[in-house]
Amino acid sequence: MSRVNSEVLVVGAGPVGLRLAIDLGRRGVACTLIERKAAPEFLPKMERCNARTMEIFRRMGLADRVRAAGLDRHVPMDVYVALAMNEPPLLHLPYPSVADAEAQIAACDDGSMPREPYQLISQYTLEPLLKSVAEQLPCVTVRYGHEFLSLVQQPDAATATVRDPDGRSIEIRANYIVGCDGGSSLVRKQLGIQLHGEGNLLRLHQGLYHAPDLFDRIPIGNGPGKGRHYHIADAQSTFLIMQDSTKHWTLHAVVEEPAQMAAQFERTIGIPVRFDILYVGEWKQNLLLADRYGAGRVFLAGDSVHLVIPTGGFGMNTGVGDAIDLSWKLHATLRGWGGPNLLPSYEIERRQVGDRNVDASRYASLGRRKWRSQYRPNIRDATPDGEATRDHLARIANVEQRKTNEMIGAELGYRYGGSPIILEEPGGPDHLFRDYVPTTWPGARLPHVWLDEARSVHDVIGDGYTLLRLGDSAADTSDFARAMRARGAPFEELAIDATAPRDVYGYDLILVRPDLHVVWRGNAAPADSARLAALVTGH
Ligand SMILES: Cc1cc2nc3c(=O)[nH]c(=O)nc-3n(C[C@H](O)[C@H](O)[C@H](O)COP(=O)(O)OP(=O)(O)OC[C@H]3O[C@@H](n4cnc5c(N)ncnc54)[C@H](O)[C@@H]3O)c2cc1C
Repeated sequence: MSRVNSEVLVVGAGPVGLRLAIDLGRRGVACTLIERKAAPEFLPKMERCNARTMEIFRRMGLADRVRAAGLDRHVPMDVYVALAMNEPPLLHLPYPSVADAEAQIAACDDGSMPREPYQLISQYTLEPLLKSVAEQLPCVTVRYGHEFLSLVQQPDAATATVRDPDGRSIEIRANYIVGCDGGSSLVRKQLGIQLHGEGNLLRLHQGLYHAPDLFDRIPIGNGPGKGRHYHIADAQSTFLIMQDSTKHWTLHAVVEEPAQMAAQFERTIGIPVRFDILYVGEWKQNLLLADRYGAGRVFLAGDSVHLVIPTGGFGMNTGVGDAIDLSWKLHATLRGWGGPNLLPSYEIERRQVGDRNVDASRYASLGRRKWRSQYRPNIRDATPDGEATRDHLARIANVEQRKTNEMIGAELGYRYGGSPIILEEPGGPDHLFRDYVPTTWPGARLPHVWLDEARSVHDVIGDGYTLLRLGDSAADTSDFARAMRARGAPFEELAIDATAPRDVYGYDLILVRPDLHVVWRGNAAPADSARLAALVTGH
């Protein structure tokens, strides 16, 4: 059996494993990424990177490439509820295109908006893009066609047995293994970790269609009716999603047989268009969370530890947050400056977000279910009763459907409570799903505030710890800088003269860690610099 050594073995090249491997590679960690598929597949799954995921892409230097590969920046992200696309909509919820959202962000200086807006990019576009990025990193070895089979842990390493494309067994010995191997994760099963919650809530069929003319002829209302989601008020929970090329569409519906998905598409569109069906498959809705996010030298991230209903887009987006929390902690530990509390903080910080996002997904999908439950068979009737059914459903949808599309609080406002590497302040603002209230409360993501027309505070913060000195603070922080350097941690101080950041952040000194979460804030130098430096680096 051949043997390979690596600092980190990442199992699974879905969007989470790829992101983790890239971030480890950028930080100079020797990383092997294995994927059992021979190559990325052209199969539909996620399509929306939320604002926080795009901020993370920006810090990785990838936001522009993701946008170039994704949906054109001028296409609106509107959502419709309708009886069919060739009829007037029952409800039209307008949401800005990326270009319009960027203009809104440019005009906002109160910290309430993200640095980057969302981006629609289909998973089958995103994965090959990330694969090509990972393959260019000298520290990252990408091996498709390699299937993880089992693992054993030793005191100083973990060893995985992997089957290569020729059916031979390979041993990969790594300091750490991360299972990013999706909902049926074998890595998780090997650790004896269970998922709990509500499984198999609804089974739907999903079809992927190539309909190259539909986008230009979207008939809804008086046309052009361009948007991204079209929910059909029917008994089959039908919804149509535009994919990034605008030439591909997915349709989801509760039907008995895959063969019904052609007629379901035609009924939904309502006008004759050329189309090919590229794929039909079944998927089920789950709301599940793992008891643990790892054991020993093995960690879990993404769908391997949380499975949500896609309403609200908390699947991959939550997994990206996991990857980005874990990667700098693995790097710090491998390079020796990260203390023993750093890696255990991963589960403490990220499991609470997984839990909250399962709740956010439940909240959104219950909203969807509520307006759908107003469907009555008379909904198409040209009668007063039919009209009453339509009006009632539209009124409820106008409240309930928004829950799916307006969750900026859950996306940006998550805060790590109870973490051993954050100097906690008692209390703290409530976690809100719908509203984002900018805060520098320790544990929160540092709000984005402009420094000038082109640069945000986010843009000038490096990959290590940063002590922001705001306004005209004259606090002597040299003891703290010495303490951080004595720990060997990457650290810089950054003076920010602009007034808007001081106004939004509310403090003269803010210490942020590599993933832009606040770990400490104050108006005077830390009372015990050595203790603070030890705590934030995990000692
Ligand atoms: C219809 C639908 C729409 C969605 N829309 C969104 C959305 O808009 N936004 C969003 O954030 N999320 C969305 N999601 C959820 C999103 O697709 C998942 O959360 C995301 O794919 C999880 O990424 P992952 O990398 O953790 O796992 P996966 O994407 O499942 O990747 C796991 C990888 O591991 C590989 N693997 C598995 N076992 C092994 C093994 N033994 N050895 C080697 N490799 C292995 C698999 O082949 C796979 O490539 C949607 C999901 C569905 C079904």
